Amino acid sequence: MNAITLNNVTKTYAKGTVLAVDDVSLTVSEGEIFGLIGPDGAGKSTIFRLLTTLLLPDKGTGTVGGLDMVNDFKAIRGIVGYMPGKFSLYQDLTVEENLNFFATVFNTTVEENYNLIKDIYVQIEPFKDRRAGKLSGGMKQKLALCCALIHKPKVLFLDEPTTGVDVVSRKEFWEMLKRLKKQGITILVSTSYMDEATMCDRIGLILNGKVLSVASPEETIDAYPEKLYAVKADSIYHLLLDLRKYDKVINCYTFGEYLHMSMTGTEQEVKDYLQTKNHNNVEMKAIRPTVEDCFIRLLKQENDSRSSNKDK
Ligand code: ADP
Repeated sequence: MNAITLNNVTKTYAKGTVLAVDDVSLTVSEGEIFGLIGPDGAGKSTIFRLLTTLLLPDKGTGTVGGLDMVNDFKAIRGIVGYMPGKFSLYQDLTVEENLNFFATVFNTTVEENYNLIKDIYVQIEPFKDRRAGKLSGGMKQKLALCCALIHKPKVLFLDEPTTGVDVVSRKEFWEMLKRLKKQGITILVSTSYMDEATMCDRIGLILNGKVLSVASPEETIDAYPEKLYAVKADSIYHLLLDLRKYDKVINCYTFGEYLHMSMTGTEQEVKDYLQTKNHNNVEMKAIRPTVEDCFIRLLKQENDSRSSNKDK
């Protein structure tokens, strides 16, 4: 069974003037870790708020755990855990008090579901008497996850849980998600960190309220249709300008110490062209795209189609 479905869901704000979610359809299977990957303003949080029944859609339907997201909103609230993007805990309550509070709201006790949060909670237990507002970013995030889990939800919604968290804590966090998945919990997680995409079973790339591609990270990468190269030379800035002018280059952008370039021509043709532009120490190698390259490609495609629509 699908743990989550969205069927042609649209949501606008400000009396219909801001289109936040644009005719989105997707399904998440039971026990899957599904990542919504996209930049700020793409519509990720709105999808979370719709599925956790905090907002009503303008159009379309959706289900969580087989329950209708509009008609069965009360039942849905009992079976989901939600960690919103903004810090959701009570800053003036201690770690322990926050956890007890969330357990009580859901008619349960910390003891009842302790096994589910144990791995995470032991890391913050030494600080159980500290107020939540005084915790570090990584610890806040762990406490928020414990609070979202304390009633043993079937489906966990994590909206940008790792934003502003250091690399080590981010890694640990994803390890925790994998353990939760093993316990049968379905996880919908959003992130703007492209490297986290590879930790998901499937990812949906989202931009301007539209889900543009849904597949496993591997399939997303395999579907990259052009040849991709990493290129560098002594003057990387001039190299970028020259490559962008070359008609066989489809896209070229900086990526770490290299440029990433997709093109229709051959390696030799590009090298010959760069020689005519007097570039020195040109290094060029074919590479396998990352999810970020796939995303950049979609972004360009969207921008190109928007500007061609404007020209019409
Ligand atoms: P993301 O989570 O990907 O950053 P959001 O769902 O928060 O995206 O936002 C999608 C779009 O909707 C953005 O253009 C944002 O500015 C707009 N938006 C979000 N919330 C509101 C709101 N309460 N009122 C008006 N516009 C909003």
